[in-house]
Amino acid sequence: MPHQPIRVSGVEVTPLCDAVGPMGPTIRRPPAETFVGSELRDEPWILHFHCYLIRDAADRLTLVDTGIGGVDSPASSWAPVPGTLTGELAAVGVAPAEIGTVVLTHLHSDHASGAVADGRPVFGNARHVLQRAELDAAGGPMLDQVVAVIKDHLHVVEGDAEVAPGVHVRSAPGHTPGHQIARVGELAMTGDLVLHPVQLDDPAIRYVYDDDQEAAARTRTEVLAALRAERAILATAHFSEPFLRL
Ligand SMILES: [Zn+2]
Ligand SMILES: [Zn+2]
Repeated sequence: MPHQPIRVSGVEVTPLCDAVGPMGPTIRRPPAETFVGSELRDEPWILHFHCYLIRDAADRLTLVDTGIGGVDSPASSWAPVPGTLTGELAAVGVAPAEIGTVVLTHLHSDHASGAVADGRPVFGNARHVLQRAELDAAGGPMLDQVVAVIKDHLHVVEGDAEVAPGVHVRSAPGHTPGHQIARVGELAMTGDLVLHPVQLDDPAIRYVYDDDQEAAARTRTEVLAALRAERAILATAHFSEPFLRL
């Protein structure tokens, strides 16, 4: 079920809960190895997989991330269950064709695979916003099964940009080369800038699946400090509570 929406700057933001569960055994590691430098106890890390629906005052709809996708998704080798994003959208009365803008924070399979189903774009009327550096680094199944399918729907940006009225993307590289976060008012949808609450206390704690752990830690430290200074609200992809005021 979708989590409760909040209103910021005259805009409604609804967390859509695409899936809940542990990482599959193919990539699961003990928590203290997953978060390098942490002292997390050896108990299962249960992730939520959140996408965010933004409805502005003019009823324009923007979706941030598209989740795990179906049973044949590139994420199926490790995600706990297939994604339920379109069901989550239906639960709040939205059809995929109504989405005007999709922001892909990055091209990891649990964030972008839900943009495609049965070899076709799911959000056929949407521009899909992606950083140039992320597109340039794309490869493997994400390139063949996702990017190739939505290539005529891409809106490629470099760095910071306003991608829909009041919706901004900000480059936040490290987790992936072209990772970006999305902002609307005081809210920051942070993709995989932070994976676990332990990184809020210590942004230097590395995530083992960051592409560039050094760059990711540097970006995490800088971006979180700036967000903390403005007492922003975080909207995270993988925490169990979607919203958190810094
Ligand atoms: Zn959730
Ligand atoms: Zn990721």
